[in-house]
Amino acid sequence: MKIPFSPPYIDDDVKREVLEALDSGWITSGPKVLALEKLVAQQIGIDHVACCNSATSGLMLLLHWYGVTRGDEVIIPAYTYSATALVVMHLGATPVLVDSGADFNVDINKIRDKITSKTKVIMPVDIAGWPCDYTALDALVNEPEIQKQFIPKNETQKKLGRILILADAAHSIGASYHNKPIGNWADFTVFSFHAVKNVTTAEGGAMCVTLPEPFKNEEVYKTLKLWSLNGQTKDALAKTNGAGWKYDIVYPGFKMNMPDLGAAIGLAQLRKYETHILPERKRVFDLYVQHFSKYSWVQLPPHNSEHKKSCYHLFALRIKNITEHQRDQMIEHITATGVSVNVHFQPLPLLTVFRERGFKMDDYPVAYDSYSREISLPIYPELDSIKIDFIVNAVAAAYHLARHLPLSSGEGQG
Ligand SMILES: *Cc1c(COP(=O)(O)O)cnc(C)c1O
Repeated sequence: MKIPFSPPYIDDDVKREVLEALDSGWITSGPKVLALEKLVAQQIGIDHVACCNSATSGLMLLLHWYGVTRGDEVIIPAYTYSATALVVMHLGATPVLVDSGADFNVDINKIRDKITSKTKVIMPVDIAGWPCDYTALDALVNEPEIQKQFIPKNETQKKLGRILILADAAHSIGASYHNKPIGNWADFTVFSFHAVKNVTTAEGGAMCVTLPEPFKNEEVYKTLKLWSLNGQTKDALAKTNGAGWKYDIVYPGFKMNMPDLGAAIGLAQLRKYETHILPERKRVFDLYVQHFSKYSWVQLPPHNSEHKKSCYHLFALRIKNITEHQRDQMIEHITATGVSVNVHFQPLPLLTVFRERGFKMDDYPVAYDSYSREISLPIYPELDSIKIDFIVNAVAAAYHLARHLPLSSGEGQG
């Protein structure tokens, strides 16, 4: 059976919304982007969301907004997608890697030792849609001893007076922590609308602006929109709508705006995200949990917590007591049945760019352990119980093959 890993959710409503954009004669940043920003803000329960052309762009723009530059350090998890680190490097700053905990997320207890007088930002990542401990992070950056170490280098940093928390929430739109949606818990939170994410605009991202007083989030929102469109005082739509041809460039900005054509996809998806797409992802997740609970060799992804609700972006299965090589063999066996799986993530020190910069996998043993035993299974609304049975059986058979156990053997079944 052919089962893709993560196809985009495209139904008639998505097609209708995209066609409407095409027929309107306006396909780049315009009313659809503004509508998407409003809808994200409404669902998260905040006032200011600025869309851009990727989560990567949004993260980089926000680091730049905080004045992060050469000589600065930004703390990120070792266990994440490379973009979390690359945005730091694009600004000339240094990513400082921290090992993960058993739940895949950055180990907050290990962050403290990595904070120096050069630390400007911490970027937590809600891996697989499972929220980090934001209250612990908040407490950490507000500790008097930690705050005393902080050396502001510009007015913005002086105004905040501490390390900025910039959440890479590429996986976690729709997740919540202490009953409040992700998007409320950091100084800034960035969602990804890349094609494989829970909600997509093909390529795209959204920046949630939730800075504390005395910052004016409305002003920051306007700044981010300006800086993401070349620092140009009038966007293309304003110019066509009779606002006059003349504009000014008031900041050396970037070209990071989201087109309406993409926003249309996201808009139609987001309208049914909480009522349909998210419950369907949960259904698949729960079915996997039910099936895999039978096997003593399976380590289920984190899913039970009073204070955390996942948005089920990934089903990150871990197999107990196998080597990286056996995991790779399992993936080969599973793929041979037609089921596409993935690994999230190769910790950064395994990748050439980071290895060449001196990062060593041995320094992040928990991240390596999770990676070496991890297989991400397909999870999306179109998976019915027949397909899920097929996937579970494919994984179980692959386990027995990789461990050279007879398929009929009861070994490892609990
Ligand atoms: C997908 C992803 C990103 C990048 O998102 P884009 O929208 O593709 O830029 C960043 N961080 C993590 C953890 C991701 O999974």
